[in-house]
Amino acid sequence: MSALEPASDMWLAPAILGHSQVVGVMGWPVGHSVSPPMHNAAFRALRLPWCYVPLPVRPTHVAEALLGARALGFRGLNVTVPHKQAICALVNELSPAAKAIGAVNTVVFEGERILGHNTDAQGFLRALRDAGFEPEGCAALVLGAGGAARATVYALGSVGAQVTILNRTASRAHELACEFGQLWPTARYTGDGLNAATLQRHAPRVQLVVNTTPLGMWPHPEATPWPEEIPFPAGAFCYDLIYNPRQTRLMGLAHAAGARTADGLGMLVHQGAEAFELWTGQKAPVDVMYAACTAILGGK
Ligand code: NAP
Repeated sequence: MSALEPASDMWLAPAILGHSQVVGVMGWPVGHSVSPPMHNAAFRALRLPWCYVPLPVRPTHVAEALLGARALGFRGLNVTVPHKQAICALVNELSPAAKAIGAVNTVVFEGERILGHNTDAQGFLRALRDAGFEPEGCAALVLGAGGAARATVYALGSVGAQVTILNRTASRAHELACEFGQLWPTARYTGDGLNAATLQRHAPRVQLVVNTTPLGMWPHPEATPWPEEIPFPAGAFCYDLIYNPRQTRLMGLAHAAGARTADGLGMLVHQGAEAFELWTGQKAPVDVMYAACTAILGGK
C-alpha cells in the first residue's frame, strides 16, 4: 500500500508528539463535523506530525477562543457555523475572497498575526472541475442567497460566469446580484424570487444549477428547491452543496432528466484541501481526505 492510499486505520488520530503542530475546527456545535477525521487522515498519510481537534466554542466566546488558540501555539483553524462572519472583525488581515464573501472559514496564525481566508469559493470551483464541469463563462442558476451562496456566487464571478440568483426572499437575491456585479466586471449577475415561474423561465438557458439552500438535507430528504413539474434542463450540470444524504431529491430529478450531477462532498473536501495547503505548505492528499469522509458519510 502506498502512503497515499486510504488506510484501514482511518479512525486513528496521528501520533501526538512533543513537537506536534495543532489545528482544529471552531464552531457551535462541532460534534457532527467530518473535518477532524478528514484532516487527521491527511496528516497520517503524509507522515506529518500534525493533529486536528474539534473545538466547540459558544458564540459569546469566539474572540477569547481565537486569541487563546494563538496563545496556545495553534498553527491554524477552520471556522464553521455560526462563527464564520464574526471572525472577520477579529483577524488582522482578510484575504480578498474572505473580504468579498464576508466570511472566514480558515485562519492561519503567522507569529502574532491572524490571517483570515475563505477556501469555500476555491473549494467549490475545484469540486466542479473534479466532477468534469468547466465553469469558465458558463450560464449558472444559483438557488439560495445565504452564506454558502455568497461563496459560490463569488467563485462563479471570478471565472466570468453569467449568474442568475433565485431566492425565496427575492430582495436578498437582488442585493447579492448587485453587490457581486460591482466586483467582477466580466461576470453578469441577476437576482429574482425562487418559484415555479422563475425556474421555468430561466431553466432552458442554463448550463449549471447550484443548490445552496438546505432543502433536501437530512433529516428532511423529501424536500427540494425544484418542483417536480418543472422540467430540469437535461444539458445542465447539477451541483448540490448538500452531502448528507449523498443523493438528494434534486439530484435524482436532474439525473432522471439526463443531467450530470455531483453532491457537496467534493466542495467540502476541496475547501479542506485548500486549508491544509495554507497551513502546511504541502499539497493535500485529496483522495485520502475524500475516502475519510466517505467512510463516515457513505458512498453514493
Ligand atoms: P443560510 O445562510 O441559512 O442560507 C440558506 C438559504 O436557503 C437562504 O437563501 C434561504 O432563503 C434559503 N432557504 C432556507 N430554507 C428555505 C426554504 N424552506 N425554502 C426556500 N428557501 C429556503 O445557510 P448556508 O450556510 O448558506 O447553508 C446552506 C446549505 O449549504 C446547507 O445545506 C449547508 O450544509 C450547505 N453547505 C455546504 C457546504 C459544502 O462544503 N458542501 C459548505 C457550506 C454550506 P431566505 O433568504 O429566503 O431565508
